Amino acid sequence: MGNANPSISSFKKLGTLALGLLILATTFGCGQIDISLIKPSETKETKKVTKTEEAPKEVKSKKEVKGVKQVPHIPVTKVNATEEEQQTSRIEEAQQEDESSDEKESKYPRYTWEEKSKIVKEYCSKTEKTFTRYGWGQSNCENYAWQFVRTSVNGDPLIWRTYGEPATDDDHTETTLIMCGVHGDEITPIKFCYDVLQYMEKISQGKVIDPHTNKQASLKGKLVIVAPLVNPDSYFKKRPTRTNANGIDVNRNFPTRDFNKLAMKSWIDRYRRDKRRYPGKKAMSEPETIFQVNLIYRYRPDKIISVHAPLTMLDYDGPASEHTGGKLGSRANQLLIRMSEQAKGYRIKNYPFFPGSLGNYAGNERNIPTFTLELPTSDPAKANSYWALFKESIHSAVMHEIRGKGFVALDQEQNPLREKKQSNN
Ligand SMILES: [Zn+2]
Repeated sequence: MGNANPSISSFKKLGTLALGLLILATTFGCGQIDISLIKPSETKETKKVTKTEEAPKEVKSKKEVKGVKQVPHIPVTKVNATEEEQQTSRIEEAQQEDESSDEKESKYPRYTWEEKSKIVKEYCSKTEKTFTRYGWGQSNCENYAWQFVRTSVNGDPLIWRTYGEPATDDDHTETTLIMCGVHGDEITPIKFCYDVLQYMEKISQGKVIDPHTNKQASLKGKLVIVAPLVNPDSYFKKRPTRTNANGIDVNRNFPTRDFNKLAMKSWIDRYRRDKRRYPGKKAMSEPETIFQVNLIYRYRPDKIISVHAPLTMLDYDGPASEHTGGKLGSRANQLLIRMSEQAKGYRIKNYPFFPGSLGNYAGNERNIPTFTLELPTSDPAKANSYWALFKESIHSAVMHEIRGKGFVALDQEQNPLREKKQSNN
């Protein structure tokens, strides 16, 4: 990320509101996790029904992809026709690849079940080694029911895992996408996502008490998608790097509207050709970028949390409280404040977004509230303390319904929990 040039942020006005605090009564220790890999045929169960009201700025697809009613497109403004077509076609192909992953007639190469298992096994063994090296204990990587469609530049699987139980009928399923390891040299976020996984596992097993209800916390009506390591190639290097195996910053490679006009220009003028921030010649040229875009297409999250380090701040991109956002923006901003308060008043900073960045692509252009959590350092020895600091915030982020009925407003009547928190901690 670059120099801050914060504009006035609406969420600051909410700063005086009292906050709801969730108390997490949890017990640690790893439960038995049984499935090692979700079979392709099972993946469709987790797919969301498209919410038609959600893509106001986007044009309907010419081709309708199976299982998805509406495929948003790259807006046509400010992009010359050829490049726009290329971007669109890359998105369509990638999208199709994901959606048809269990169909034999697909033109894309497919992994067999055995091949997939083998790839994941090798990947997990590498992950485990890094956990040992950093003194993190066991990753449990091999025990999780991963999904993956494509691989990184160097052939590692780009994996994700879902938790939750979609709402029945037409009820809203609050969907939260959590991604870590976009920059492979930011070590702590990767452990952070594995802690998130373990925590979701515990909620799923009924081992977490929800402070609002004093009952078992439940992921009913919730969908949580965790992608713990978006950029494995750079993380697995002997000396981890920020950029991927092609030397591209995958958080500058998103197909934002300003990419063609500004990404290279900003890299040259603003970053003085800093290799760590190279956006690539074309948007979405990298599998790790396509991976993130497709998670957004596939699940249409209500909110996204992307974990980085070491800028020590919580940043928000997305609809604002007053103008474009209305209810959505207001709720997202309240969540931002809540997440900060629950992490000892963690610094909220309105960081700008960049050509080709996730905050720009998802938050700015698609109105998906996007939270960037920058942990304080990349020091692996501190990873456990970061999870302890943000556990409540992540719990809130998952449970806090930005679109659904279950939104809990930030007001004092509803938050007597503040007092209780001290006694329970
Ligand atoms: Zn980063």
